[in-house]
Amino acid sequence: MKVSFPYMGTTVIYKKLLELLGHEVIEPPEPTQRTIDLGVKYSPEFACFPLKVVLGSYIEALEIGAETLVTSGGHGPCRAGFYGETHKKILENMGYDVDIIVFDGYKRDIMGTIKKVLRVKNGKPWRTVWKAIKTVYAMAKALDGIEKRIGQMRAYEIHRGDCTKAWQKIKKSFDDVKTIEDVERIEKESHILLDEIALRDVPDSDRLRIGIVGEIYVVMEQSINLRIEETLGSLGAEVERSQYISEWIDFNLKPGASAKEHELYILKKGEKYIQEIIGGHAKQTVGHIVDYAERGFDGVVHLMPFACLPELVSQSIIPTISKDYNIPVITLPIDEQTGAANVLTRLEAFMDLIRNNKKTKTA
Ligand code: SF4
Repeated sequence: MKVSFPYMGTTVIYKKLLELLGHEVIEPPEPTQRTIDLGVKYSPEFACFPLKVVLGSYIEALEIGAETLVTSGGHGPCRAGFYGETHKKILENMGYDVDIIVFDGYKRDIMGTIKKVLRVKNGKPWRTVWKAIKTVYAMAKALDGIEKRIGQMRAYEIHRGDCTKAWQKIKKSFDDVKTIEDVERIEKESHILLDEIALRDVPDSDRLRIGIVGEIYVVMEQSINLRIEETLGSLGAEVERSQYISEWIDFNLKPGASAKEHELYILKKGEKYIQEIIGGHAKQTVGHIVDYAERGFDGVVHLMPFACLPELVSQSIIPTISKDYNIPVITLPIDEQTGAANVLTRLEAFMDLIRNNKKTKTA
């Protein structure tokens, strides 16, 4: 079967897993204005923005030959749990004969999950499946480590764009991975490539660090969040995201208590402001803001998709957290109307604010 998946973040990981299981993989194109326009046109008006973009991405994958879509689902009081069904209905109404395999929390439906695993397993021996999972997990860890390093370096690059070019090259080289040994080799080569990038020397006291929090899709997908990490980097800020795919795997899929420690720590930090899990990553959003404040970050950018109720709740609490912890937080709503010039102007003003804050603190 010709398989595709939703475009989100470092897609080379999802592609690799399906390839190692012997599928013919149709890689969805990176989302563009056309993707957004398609999603907006065929989605219900008040659906949350990620649902629309993912729909547009599915349509583009189907246009180039995908027959089956493999995706993760959601749970808790948020619309992500209905994504699979909603997308399927819309695509069928549009005339597509498509199969969507949705992996929800496995504890809710163990038999159903086993059936889905058997389909994606594609008749491969379990030994091959285990090897593929281990390889892809190692890839996710390696790529996230590299991306975190780039998030710190970009603020100091002497030749604008060097880090982004290196990142594109690195993602491409991971496309050749077949084994864990390949991952280890390419990871080393990637760090050597980054070592060669010329950087300005900046004293610790002048470093500005910004955390990016919010709903997972808009935090991780750079084509949708107007390449916020690159923009903040070009304005002189080191960035760290609240969401990385390997951390999502650790909390949601990896067995064992130790894998979940980091996320549970973040949830605990958010406990004072949101006691219940209200869907999406709202509780993590507030927990991460507290964590960034305690780690001495200079500011936080909160990304909130249009029509996302969980992030609307976290947005309403953010002024209190910002006051309690004395950390500036800016919320940027993301939807099809979001303009790059508007976001850039707001971020420039935000950077001026945190720069002045820092000067006042150190004066
Ligand atoms: S977290 Fe928000 S944007 Fe994401 S699926 Fe839920 S409601 Fe939609």
